[in-house]
Amino acid sequence: MNANTGLSIEKAFMFKKLHLNLKNYKSGGNSPCLSEPVSPEERIIYKLPPEYSGSESHQKWDGYIPPCTLDAKEADHVFPIQTANIKVNNLYNGIEHCSDRWIELACETALKSVQEKGGPFGAVILQLDKETNQVIRYWKNFNQVTLTNDPTAHAEVMAIRSACKSLGVFNLGEIKKEDALLDQPGELSYCIIYSSSEPCPMCYSAICWANLKVLLFAATRFDAAVQGVNFSDEEIYNELATPYPDRNLKVLQCTAGNSLDAFNLWKRSAKITY
Ligand SMILES: [Zn+2]
Repeated sequence: MNANTGLSIEKAFMFKKLHLNLKNYKSGGNSPCLSEPVSPEERIIYKLPPEYSGSESHQKWDGYIPPCTLDAKEADHVFPIQTANIKVNNLYNGIEHCSDRWIELACETALKSVQEKGGPFGAVILQLDKETNQVIRYWKNFNQVTLTNDPTAHAEVMAIRSACKSLGVFNLGEIKKEDALLDQPGELSYCIIYSSSEPCPMCYSAICWANLKVLLFAATRFDAAVQGVNFSDEEIYNELATPYPDRNLKVLQCTAGNSLDAFNLWKRSAKITY
């Protein structure tokens, strides 16, 4: 037991390591917890995802089970290794897509996050030249809810924050050369997002608000829901489809006299549209 902290030596070591990891991570970026842009060394042309079914990269649903890449010796006997995504209600029919280096990077980021005591989720945002689809740079980030005591610090939100902060824009769907803080080869570029797991409704909304053009994810929301912890988004999806009076969250619409003041003033103001 450490006399100063009251922690066991093992726990004190873990705490120190976690603290150091977070400190190192923070010191690397221009803002705490945000990742820096990475430029690929070779010139990569991004192959646009297909218009769903019918293309060569469309993964036909035939019961294909990808090989598990986690070392079997790491498996806990209580929790056998899961190798196939859980897909129910034909929810993913027609959108299955072959793996590529970016989705694998998002999944590697999720694994690294777990190894460093973060949540098991990772995301990668690619910035692409509009004309050539050349990959200009990318950002990767991970779930930092428990590391930062921020319930909104999901991987996708953190990746969006990283990209927007670096580029100095809030619209990742159309980035003009003259608006961006980082250089780009053509006049216009845009971003797409890879997530290690199907985004929750909050992240899905953030992706829409960021105007990201394409979303690709690996694990399904049902994979997340069976991990023995509260990662289930299904409840929120159901909640959103339920009339207000029947929701778990008590929601009330208030008849405040000044509720429209801000809108009315905004209409008459010089405004930045988004
Ligand atoms: Zn989320």
